[in-house]
Amino acid sequence: MGYNIAIDGPAGAGKSTIAKKIAAKLNFIYVDTGAMYRAMALYMLRNQVDPADAEQISAVCGDADITIRYENGEQVVLLNGENVNGLIRTEEVGNMASSSSVNGDVRKKLVELQQKLACTADVVMDGRDIGTCVLPDADVKVYLTASTAVRARRRYEELCARGEECNLKQIEADIQERDHRDMTRELSPLRQAEDAVLVDSSDMTIDEVVDTIVSMCRK
Ligand code: C5P
Repeated sequence: MGYNIAIDGPAGAGKSTIAKKIAAKLNFIYVDTGAMYRAMALYMLRNQVDPADAEQISAVCGDADITIRYENGEQVVLLNGENVNGLIRTEEVGNMASSSSVNGDVRKKLVELQQKLACTADVVMDGRDIGTCVLPDADVKVYLTASTAVRARRRYEELCARGEECNLKQIEADIQERDHRDMTRELSPLRQAEDAVLVDSSDMTIDEVVDTIVSMCRK
């Protein structure tokens, strides 16, 4: 069993940025579970699946083989053998991931993959249900959040920096819709595990958040 750090929280809280830095500091593997749901969502989009059609989602997800491998310390997600890292960071894929991740068959498949990874290595894993479902016995659990306005602004700046066209109001609306769906779904909704430490990053720098979490690991 590896040493496991679980980081959950809503969209745009900074989970992946923080988790990557912690992994580099501690020489752990970073497991981005959102990327797995995104790869699955890409497959759904390619197959013109209706995000509201649970039966179709269950049927199609059986044909999507999702695996990950590491190249120069970076997680690469493979969808039926194809590296899809460059295709999954769009708002369209994120919104489809939020819709298709309510599906039990999708979750079962991806949770198994996540648990296998955590068994064999020291990991920092981020997502929505890591502390509550995937790794209930994680050594350190963090619920990382920030105000909606701050999260929308961060996502907006990230997309702008990539040269993507975006609208702050629209992003804020998408974030609210996504949070609502993630927090109210029936299966593994996003919530703070009872034994997770709440970290609100609204007024913290990245390094402050990283140091806060690393210091929890040393105790
Ligand atoms: O974190 P990211 O924005 O990449 O995740 C995309 C979507 O995947 C989330 O909105 C959520 O619905 C879903 N997800 C999930 N469980 C996880 C990680 C992501 O349901 N562990």
